[in-house]
Amino acid sequence: MDLHSLTIHQLHDLLVRKEVTSREATEALYRRINEVDAHVKAYLLLTQKEAFHQADQVDRQIVRGEEIGDLAGIPLGLKDILCTKGIQTTCASKILEGYIPFYDGTVIKKLKEREAVFLGKLNMDEFAMGSSTENSGFQITHNPWNLERIPGGSSGGSAAAVAADECIAALGTDTGGSIRQPAACCGVVGLKPTYGRVSRYGLVAFASSLDQIGPITKDVEDCAILMNAISGYDPHDSTSVNTEVPNYKESLKKEVKGIRIGIPEEYWVEGMDPEVEKSVKEAIDLFKKLGADIQSISLPHTEYAVAIYYIIATAEASSNLARYDGVKYGLRIKGYRDLMEMYTQTRAKGFGKEVKRRIILGTYVLSAGYYEAYYRKASQVRTLMRKDFEEAFQRVDVIVTPTAPTPAFRVGEKTENPLQMYLSDIHTIPVNLTGIPAISIPCGFNHENLPIGLQIMGKPFGEGMLLRAAYTFEQNTDFHLKKPSLT
Ligand code: GLN
Repeated sequence: MDLHSLTIHQLHDLLVRKEVTSREATEALYRRINEVDAHVKAYLLLTQKEAFHQADQVDRQIVRGEEIGDLAGIPLGLKDILCTKGIQTTCASKILEGYIPFYDGTVIKKLKEREAVFLGKLNMDEFAMGSSTENSGFQITHNPWNLERIPGGSSGGSAAAVAADECIAALGTDTGGSIRQPAACCGVVGLKPTYGRVSRYGLVAFASSLDQIGPITKDVEDCAILMNAISGYDPHDSTSVNTEVPNYKESLKKEVKGIRIGIPEEYWVEGMDPEVEKSVKEAIDLFKKLGADIQSISLPHTEYAVAIYYIIATAEASSNLARYDGVKYGLRIKGYRDLMEMYTQTRAKGFGKEVKRRIILGTYVLSAGYYEAYYRKASQVRTLMRKDFEEAFQRVDVIVTPTAPTPAFRVGEKTENPLQMYLSDIHTIPVNLTGIPAISIPCGFNHENLPIGLQIMGKPFGEGMLLRAAYTFEQNTDFHLKKPSLT
């Protein structure tokens, strides 16, 4: 088997058995990147020097006979929205070109303590705003299953890199679906943890009441391994929650007998692709065959989710992005006459079209006279949505839906129609608005061999149950084992 196509747990076993070194694995990954990234365009930056340094360190420990942890020496990719000390972090925005953080985000620190190898920084929609990675200020990432298709977004670089075997696993972030929707488009696993489960210290903020960091992996076991590494309370993030982190690997039981699965009637939306519908219904049938108790449920406020998300997310973004003015970070235009011109010209040049659209929208919904009608109203509906889920979770343990209404669309297909683009997140957004966790796993392919994703939502801090349901499904299917041919 090629080293680049291994999972975290497979490579770990080979390292421990001394059949492979971390340097060999890291070399294999860079070879693979060299071979395919000209087509996929997942990476914005490669960090070979640091990667080999870390790999060699782990190899020396192995030679000395020391025990190593399950992420030691494993080559990973990072979405370029996570602050990495001494390594440029751009959020795929021209306005952050040249910005080199002087500290590591908490998740980076945790992975470094576990001696993971970082291969480089991955492309994304600028400031994580988008569902296709076409909004990157630098390059368009292509779907490894079909290079004319989008990889999803905003963590499209992360999902495409995992699917194309350009890293063993990656981290992404999810504000409205940005881990799960690209995972679905690229046929890999993606988990958005409960709000507060993972520290966001060192994550460049998009919408602070929604953002979460999570794993994008080749299988569910790897997802559990990364969740063990990144979860937990952090005094640097006041929204992180101080509750015990279970060992997620222990949740990986092949057993769903008696588990109550809710199917929300509101999620069979108009415009849903018939092949997506078919695959998801087959997945539900499989759960039933495996002994789960399937129940129809209702989440009555679902229809408002996209609308209120685009009020709340843009409002928070307009305030978070006010800090990019040419003074502290990245880009500063030349030749300005006064301070105001420096601010305005830097922002005009540095931000892309979608980011500007959102800042304008967000500023509008927060402005005097409109705040009550928009932001406040949206917050009230958000509370009603939370109640919908609370009631549903009294009857069921998890909720199963499609991850996205269609498989990956064509590059360019929705760029002129932002509303159409916004609707790709109709199934993922309610999860962020209510703070609950959800995972996307592969559940089929359409007639063009494009992957289809299944979403499983859970109770707050119920990641263990999600992983268990996902693992059971995965171990009874082989969708996760298929690879794109990339030719
Ligand atoms: N696609 C959604 C948006 O454009 C969600 C993005 C995200 O989760 N970061 O806002």
